[in-house]
Amino acid sequence: MSSRFETEAGPTGRHAAGLFAAAAMHRDSNGNALHAPVLVLNASYEPINVCAARRALVLVLKGVAMTEEENGHFLHAARIAMRVPSVIRLLEYRRIPHQSRALSRKNILLRDRNTCQYCATVLPSGELTLDHVIPRSRGGSSTWENLVACCHPCNRRKGNQFPLEACMKLMREPRAFNLHTSCHIMRLMGRSDDKWRKYLFY
Ligand SMILES: [Zn+2]
Repeated sequence: MSSRFETEAGPTGRHAAGLFAAAAMHRDSNGNALHAPVLVLNASYEPINVCAARRALVLVLKGVAMTEEENGHFLHAARIAMRVPSVIRLLEYRRIPHQSRALSRKNILLRDRNTCQYCATVLPSGELTLDHVIPRSRGGSSTWENLVACCHPCNRRKGNQFPLEACMKLMREPRAFNLHTSCHIMRLMGRSDDKWRKYLFY
């Protein structure tokens, strides 16, 4: 790390390091370089996530990931200077589970955009409930594919019936937040960062 610092910054030694540290602190307080989004690649170079630069630096320091692209900023702490990454890659391949987002009431409402999936009413989270499409009493499980956002009147009307039995229809097939959704979001974010493109557009 120190050799990188010397190559990049020219002057070496404690004095220079101290000066740069002061400059960096000033820039960090204004520039928010540590909050900048960083693209996370699997060991196979497949994009898998986006995290904040601060988190990415921790992963690099712990030896879990390496920097593939830098964002042009430096982090200075004590006598160490590190380039802030723009893209990092995990050193060990991680199997990404199909459902990477936790199944929770909050995430179901987020997926369904706070919209009752039967009558299309948009409501605040507190006025929505979760409906088991196949009722629990009839073997329905609590999964991404069987839970939808639902208003209380629709929930009462449906009761322990299948949607068809209650003459109700889902707005759309409930699905998990999958890798495809995440890749789409990463591509949208990547449009603002040229360094991400070669990993996202292929
Ligand atoms: Zn409804």
